Amino acid sequence: MDIGTLKGIGPKTEKILKSNGIMTTKDLISYYPFRYDVIKRSNIEELVQDDKIIIDGIVESKPSVFFFNKKMNKMSFKFNTGNYLMNVVIFNRGFLKSKINPGATLTLIGKFDKIHNTIVASDIRFSKLPNIPVIEPIYHAIGGISSNQIRGYINNIDFYEVEEYVPEYLKEKYKLIEKEEAVLNIHNPKSELDLKKAQAYLKYEELFLFMLKMNSLKRNKKNKVGLSRVVDKKLVIDFIKSLPFELTEDQSKCVDKIYEDLTDINRMNRLVQGDVGSGKTIVAIIALYINFLSGYQGALMAPTEVLANQHLINLKNIFKDYNINVELLTGSLKVSEKKAIYKKLENKEIDIIIGTHALISEGVNYNNLGLVITDEQHRFGVNQRSNLKNKGITPDILYLSATPIPRTYALTIYGDMDVSSIKTMPSGRKEVITNLKTSNQIKELLELMYQEIKAKHQIYVIAPLIEESDRIDLENVNELEEKMTSAFGKICKIGVMHGKMEKSEKDKVMQDFKNGDITILISTTVIEVGVDVKNATMMVIFDAYRFGLSQLHQLRGRVGRNDLQSYCVLVSDKEAERLDIMTKTTDGFKISEEDFKLRGSGDLFGVRQSGDMNFRLADFKTDFNILLKAKEDTLELLETNKIIKYENLVNLLNSSVNLD
Ligand code: ADP
Ligand code: MG
Repeated sequence: MDIGTLKGIGPKTEKILKSNGIMTTKDLISYYPFRYDVIKRSNIEELVQDDKIIIDGIVESKPSVFFFNKKMNKMSFKFNTGNYLMNVVIFNRGFLKSKINPGATLTLIGKFDKIHNTIVASDIRFSKLPNIPVIEPIYHAIGGISSNQIRGYINNIDFYEVEEYVPEYLKEKYKLIEKEEAVLNIHNPKSELDLKKAQAYLKYEELFLFMLKMNSLKRNKKNKVGLSRVVDKKLVIDFIKSLPFELTEDQSKCVDKIYEDLTDINRMNRLVQGDVGSGKTIVAIIALYINFLSGYQGALMAPTEVLANQHLINLKNIFKDYNINVELLTGSLKVSEKKAIYKKLENKEIDIIIGTHALISEGVNYNNLGLVITDEQHRFGVNQRSNLKNKGITPDILYLSATPIPRTYALTIYGDMDVSSIKTMPSGRKEVITNLKTSNQIKELLELMYQEIKAKHQIYVIAPLIEESDRIDLENVNELEEKMTSAFGKICKIGVMHGKMEKSEKDKVMQDFKNGDITILISTTVIEVGVDVKNATMMVIFDAYRFGLSQLHQLRGRVGRNDLQSYCVLVSDKEAERLDIMTKTTDGFKISEEDFKLRGSGDLFGVRQSGDMNFRLADFKTDFNILLKAKEDTLELLETNKIIKYENLVNLLNSSVNLD
């Protein structure tokens, strides 16, 4: 059922929900609470302002209902708790009016507004609740829609449409409840035991589906013979010699491995792991060149348009004296432009295609795709990767990632993947100096910025959000632009970049920054991954507490890309303790481990581009045992071919992975 048709949801709410990916009531019921409040039977004397309350009593007056904002209403009535006469208000339950008659016994759940002698109820129960604690689900707000509102909408759904994926025999094995019951209870647990059972089903199902996809991907790769290539090694060596810098030892080793993989008959399946700034791109470029020499098309996929563009410029420049046609394919091209590219890919007029996930969209057919590289691999979901693979016959695969995934986890997920690491940075790099500042210390910040501007260096300024939200008071791009303009507008040029800009505008700003025409670039995190401007020596991040440590590390990695001393300033009035590690180390591995400890796997695998690594309920770390079970179970299901008995699982896999 479309979310717009649900009781209580007006056009504005509908729009917000839909832009957050909640299109149907089915989507909404899979929006699970992130925690629960346990409310015990209350003794009014002991409560303070805004305490949670559960209380029994008798209705003392007929309720009155007041309508506002078209679809909202507020109901109020008097309530006798035995010792006290109190006011009750409850929002959007006007439809209960006829059931609330003087003399009726009710239990109210809500908040106690002591000052106004009022109970702000979130729920009314007509049958007396047993004397056990009530568990109230708390949801993450969605674009200004509060937890309570979300809860109200979910309660308005009469029919929970769920699709169960866990096979019966596994449900029996782990004594799991039915999914429908699990979903009901995850939103409205009657007891802690109910909640545990609900979580047990849903976590298992999540990890089961994840491992099913992973394992079936692996099986597809197995036993597949790769491409045979003939490559003149001398040409590769000459190409490497022609580069403007010498490869580091780790880069050279990586390249050797890739050369072996590519010329060997087995299919390459390699991950190049290296911290931000370690120089993974050049390794990818050499791989693309080897692939080109053997006569195949190559694809390089990046998670953002900004990054894809940068790769395009970079590759065009490096290959300018070679007869190699490099082009770009991203979602924001015009339909006619896309069609032209599709045609050229089919005719093999394009040797190397760079792009975002548009590279794997429906219309794309390659002539002879031989190598696929995904940059910032952790930002893509499993499905996207598999789609790209399925475009070629048996292309070789190379992943680049700056996120050091702890080894145990990596082995579980990428079991059969070869891993190369680039551990050392190109020589001459200085460690970025990182400072924490509060918003009261803006003057000091501006002073630091001024020093860099005087030295003719460039600065990134990061703001977390583009639109001002009335709820969360964040520094936004526009506000920052004003501030920066009043401080530095007379002495240098300031540019702005954010996600809502047209592609052409973004390109222009990025180009101006690269050329040095813009000195200060104010941006949202669209800048985050992979952007490379050597003369930028300062990274300022406002509201730094909003970011995960790994994300901050990525952002900081935008500076310190040559032998100049670079700086990073984190501006934050909160969570100084958590952020402190950023001032102490620039080791991405340590930082990600810390993040892992603090936040579970979420940030490690990139929250923003929610790939398949972002689970709704399961946590990679604390539920690792369930993951291991799911791994075994799904392997068995696939290996014994039992899977064909489960049509919905087969369909699910077919829609993401080729099951041949
Ligand atoms: P990342 O690994 O984060 O993707 P990049 O590939 O963008 O890093 O490289 C960071 C910067 O280092 C780039 O400007 C690149 O040209 C430069 N670089 C890469 N390898 C070397 C090297 N061996 N010597 C000097 N500079 C290098
Ligand atoms: Mg990179």
